[in-house]
Amino acid sequence: MPLVETEALVLRTYRLGESDKIVSLLTRHLGRCRVAASGALRTKSRFGSSLEPLSYVRVWIYDRPNRDLQRLGAAEMIESFFGIQSDYRVQVGTQYLAEVADAFLPEREVNERAFRLVLAVLRGMKVSGEVTRPLLYFNYWLLRLGGFLPSLDRCADCRSPLGTKAFYGSGSEGLVCKDCRKPTARNEISAEVLALAGKLRGLRLEDWLREQKSPPGTNQLRRFLEELIQTHLERKLATRELLAEEI
Ligand SMILES: [Zn+2]
Repeated sequence: MPLVETEALVLRTYRLGESDKIVSLLTRHLGRCRVAASGALRTKSRFGSSLEPLSYVRVWIYDRPNRDLQRLGAAEMIESFFGIQSDYRVQVGTQYLAEVADAFLPEREVNERAFRLVLAVLRGMKVSGEVTRPLLYFNYWLLRLGGFLPSLDRCADCRSPLGTKAFYGSGSEGLVCKDCRKPTARNEISAEVLALAGKLRGLRLEDWLREQKSPPGTNQLRRFLEELIQTHLERKLATRELLAEEI
């Protein structure tokens, strides 16, 4: 049984019996995978605090490729994101990040860019204490890397240019023009707000966060992309409502 050493982000943990944990990890070399960490719930666990949600860790995994659940041999902390979660808004932001990454990224599919994206978004929240811009950046790049980002200047139905306003609703996979709008497309989004997406294409998050203020429409664009993610997942995101209350 090969022992694989890789860097990983702890997405979620679940209790397994009295003293063990199941941990969903986003790893650099094995993609997203689930591991059993035996004894992780004991007070003197050899994993220490390294398995707290969203820790950036180095792990050693006993990899059995045909099994759903691998065994975690050891873990050590590289960078903790535990402290930033004392701010409730950031906590909700990190929970959203973990929930979406866990649900969206296919199991056992190595994706270096997605790994770097999640880490950059966590660091962005850590450095700035801000949630809106990091999560907009996350939603945008996650959809783009997955090939699910629709056209932002043409109608998804008739393919004509969208003009100054576009519309979407619950379950939308893209934007429609005013002629194709159905009653379910309740939300309106302006061309100005959509133009913000163009900015994200050529920008590193850390550079963007150095700019003083979040541009108008950041939150509106974030919500639209969040809708697309939820449509793609075909299920309700538990953290979405919490996020709506906070930002
Ligand atoms: Zn149309």
